[in-house]
Amino acid sequence: MRTLTLSVALSLIAMIGEAAETNHEMIERARGIHQRVITVDTHVDIPPNFATPAYDLMKPGPSRQQVHLPTMIEGGLDATFIIVFVGQGPRTDAGYAKALSDAFVKFAAIHRVTSDMYPDQIELARTAEDVRRIDAAGKKIALIGIENGYPMGRDLRLLDQFYDYGARYFGLIHTGHNDLGDSSVPNRRRGEPAEEHGGLTDLGRQVVHRLNELGIMVDVSHASKQTSLDIIAESKAPVIASHSSLEGVYDHPRNMSDEELMAIKASNGVVQVVAFDTYLRAVPQAKQDAIAALWKDIGVTTISDFRTMPRDELEVYRARMAKLELEFPRAGVKDLADHIDYAVGKVGIEHVGIASDFNGGGGIEGWSDASETFNVTLELVQRGYSEEQIAKLWGGNLLRVLADVEEHAKSSDR
Ligand SMILES: [Zn+2]
Repeated sequence: MRTLTLSVALSLIAMIGEAAETNHEMIERARGIHQRVITVDTHVDIPPNFATPAYDLMKPGPSRQQVHLPTMIEGGLDATFIIVFVGQGPRTDAGYAKALSDAFVKFAAIHRVTSDMYPDQIELARTAEDVRRIDAAGKKIALIGIENGYPMGRDLRLLDQFYDYGARYFGLIHTGHNDLGDSSVPNRRRGEPAEEHGGLTDLGRQVVHRLNELGIMVDVSHASKQTSLDIIAESKAPVIASHSSLEGVYDHPRNMSDEELMAIKASNGVVQVVAFDTYLRAVPQAKQDAIAALWKDIGVTTISDFRTMPRDELEVYRARMAKLELEFPRAGVKDLADHIDYAVGKVGIEHVGIASDFNGGGGIEGWSDASETFNVTLELVQRGYSEEQIAKLWGGNLLRVLADVEEHAKSSDR
């Protein structure tokens, strides 16, 4: 009787203890989890002057960039896919040549950082195994993703070269349709129709096949819904959406529909939910009105007007925009977690991951740069995700997909 009472009392104490985890204890538990899991952010953009004094990965200085080695260390961000992005331009020989040279500038810059500038601090990973090895060695990890297939023009052989340079995912399309398929966002300035091809083109199909053979993950972010469904149907290896959120939470052309989400799951792939303000929730009308008024005031009618704007005027615009941002905060970590919850509810924990789109328009309240990465883990812990689940969301799933894609390539005739 006494023993029973004691054991009941002990379990009662244990239950009370669990229920009464203080906020401080939860934060400490989250910190432990954040430190132990490998955090992989699948989308960080770089400008053409990356790895020059204008954007030195060790010296934040005056640059507005959101990722540096010190901020990665501070925020516990272990690995980033650094993006070789070239915006869609004219589909002419001259256009392709310029795009290819712009892409090589970015490849070279990433290699400069990992091989020449900071090899003791960050290393280029070419395999999922590399990621784990480099992490265990206590260094930060760089991987390379390509955003927009435009730089390859119509030359499939360039894919082999991109692979050799370390590219491990390839998004076929960006804003504006191209030779590979339709975009989720046509280039309205060029008067593009909603669809040009009605999905993936024959060249696009050949690209998917070659990516499968090489062991490069195929990425559907930015593709139109039909193009992305075509890509997933065409790919013999798992497919990713490197930086997209969920249409089921907020209807935006850049977000994945339930149909795409289910198709990605069926391919054994992963959707990397992105911390991008305007994809996560509707921008409040009052903010839209305030931005429209600001644009009118400075004489801007389209986004391209900013390209020709004198530097001093641009500074004035930025300062006024910053004030506006304070007045109307961006989406926050809770909005990001709402999309994660939704995707997990639809397709399960195995097919969901996380991306920032830092330096490319991404960044939200609470995860505005690499130094704040822990806040995402804290929110997931608060929502009841276990360490095992968080490890999957933060990179485990993506690394599983990368390993599957590598395995598929080995088994196919290159
Ligand atoms: Zn993008």
